[in-house]
Amino acid sequence: MGILVENVSKHFGSFQAVSQVNLEIKTGSLVALLGPSGSGKSTLLRLIAGLEPPDIGKIWITGKDATYQSVQDRQIGFVFQHYALFKHLTIRDNIGFGMDIRKSPKARTRKRVEELLDLVQLSGLGDRYPSQLSGGQRQRVALARALAVEPQVLLLDEPFGALDAKVRKELRDWLRRLHHEVNVTTVFVTHDQEEAMEVADEIVVMNKGRVEQVGTPAQIYDSPATAFVMSFIGPVNVLSSTAGIFARQTLESASPQIYLRPHDVLIQTEPEASFAPAKINRIVYLGWEIQIELLVDDKEILTAYLDRDRFKLLNVQVDQRVYVKPRQARAFPVELPV
Ligand code: ADP
Ligand code: MG
Repeated sequence: MGILVENVSKHFGSFQAVSQVNLEIKTGSLVALLGPSGSGKSTLLRLIAGLEPPDIGKIWITGKDATYQSVQDRQIGFVFQHYALFKHLTIRDNIGFGMDIRKSPKARTRKRVEELLDLVQLSGLGDRYPSQLSGGQRQRVALARALAVEPQVLLLDEPFGALDAKVRKELRDWLRRLHHEVNVTTVFVTHDQEEAMEVADEIVVMNKGRVEQVGTPAQIYDSPATAFVMSFIGPVNVLSSTAGIFARQTLESASPQIYLRPHDVLIQTEPEASFAPAKINRIVYLGWEIQIELLVDDKEILTAYLDRDRFKLLNVQVDQRVYVKPRQARAFPVELPV
């Protein structure tokens, strides 16, 4: 086991930042901690790193109880959102910094730094200073520096958060490839669901200091465990269970709200027993996808997404009457306030 978090809680004043978290992270895996701002992701990462002590619970790293180990003893590489490179040191010296501190022989450090520069695709830029690199390059240096001390675990807290969309996307691919090469157990914090889906093998969804669900991107998207996960992981319609569109369906429970993905709304122009009538309110072109806003029961708005081909075949216009049916919808037990 790479990391084991056992019943860990952490509060700040009267605020419960992390609540009874249990989590297993396999050796060599690449896991995303995903959740909205304030959900406790950074606190959990800092607890794993040893930058904060837990109130209760235990943290195991590669099979050893690390709960009371110092940050140094945990052998962790950490990268934050804001590059913390030393401005007055060259890239080469930044990467070698941790090894110098640990009194690694000079020749060994030099060799390892060159390997790392190569690994993060910055060979040739070792003599530059951080101010002479782009934001994306600086984050790659931060990663190389974190890897220099051969950590057992790599912790990344929104490492690409401060970069523009295009660079972020490139770095996601790059991080996946890098992880494939070095294979160190990596925990990656993000509030961006697309980033989590793209980068991680497994996603831990957090909400209000708790773990809501752990699963592969497909499991989280296709079988969300809670209403929160379903709403956070992708677009969703939330309709009352009494809506006409559901009257013709058999639903799993008597929950007052039903969750339906826009891709799971079937539309046709001919009436049919299992379909409910609806009116087209608005049609929005989103490129390859078309978003159709429908009015059901004269009051509830239902959003549907269709691909371009399907939309062409359907051949509909605003104000037209159509017939809709959920391909699949979900009901969740009512969440009681904590
Ligand atoms: P996330 O990374 O998911 O955005 P954090 O773990 O940073 O969330 O924070 C969770 C909550 O704990 C936030 O509401 C934050 O204000 C609070 N918090 C975090 N660190 C501290 C601290 N050192 N002192 C007081 N409150 C904190
Ligand atoms: Mg954070």
